[in-house]
Amino acid sequence: MKINVLGVRFDNVTPEEALERGAQLMEQPGFHYVVTPNPEFVLAAEKDKEFQSVLNGADLVIPDGIGVIYSAKLLGTPLKSRVPGIEFSADMLAHMDKVGGRVFLLGAKPGVAEQAAANISKEYPNLTICGTHDGYFKEDAPVVQIIKESNADLLFVCLGAPRQEKFMAKYGPEMGVKLAMGLGGSLDVYAGVVERAPESWQKLNLEWAYRLVKEPKRFGRMAKLPLVLVKAVLIRLSGGMKEDA
Ligand code: UDP
Repeated sequence: MKINVLGVRFDNVTPEEALERGAQLMEQPGFHYVVTPNPEFVLAAEKDKEFQSVLNGADLVIPDGIGVIYSAKLLGTPLKSRVPGIEFSADMLAHMDKVGGRVFLLGAKPGVAEQAAANISKEYPNLTICGTHDGYFKEDAPVVQIIKESNADLLFVCLGAPRQEKFMAKYGPEMGVKLAMGLGGSLDVYAGVVERAPESWQKLNLEWAYRLVKEPKRFGRMAKLPLVLVKAVLIRLSGGMKEDA
């Protein structure tokens, strides 16, 4: 059952169910990818139909962002839970640690993925970080080749949206990985370059506010986010958008 929020179809999963689905996808033959849309993605996808179809084509679409949860509720089709991409990624790393899998980290500024790799290896000693690459490359082909040669099982793609989602959909099958996950700024968090909000802020669903305090330059980006809620109310009032099995 998918929940349609302004054209993006979300999987209605708890964090535990998301992990179970992620682990299952790694067992299935072929390439799979996970996306972690927040309200900014939803607004961008309304204007960029390629982005929208790449999001809807993902094997798992998890609601990262309290704005998505509020919108789904306003639309009359509530989602069970928020599933922050960073927490989903940590659950998947714990799973890779358990099975002794191979992980490639792609994205962020030069040096960040390496620092993230060192921290991840310390915390999950039984998995192998089989490669890293920064996210500021001009040509895709050499990077795709490096990932292919690394024989990774799981790939973190942290290039920012919509580039990371389009990259996964375009090159996924030829990279030979089992699962790719679009995870935005997660490598900055694993590297310790950016802190997550303290738990008290997370519990109050104010992670976005903490980020705004820490990075005021995000204000322009965030200012349009209430639009998602307004649009959800208007759709609900006009009796639209329920469907989607
Ligand atoms: N990034 C990148 N290549 C680019 C643009 C951005 O690797 O060309 C990285 C950036 O350094 C950051 C991440 O992508 O680590 C995206 O961060 P952002 O905060 O925009 O993403 P969010 O977490 O909001 O999805």
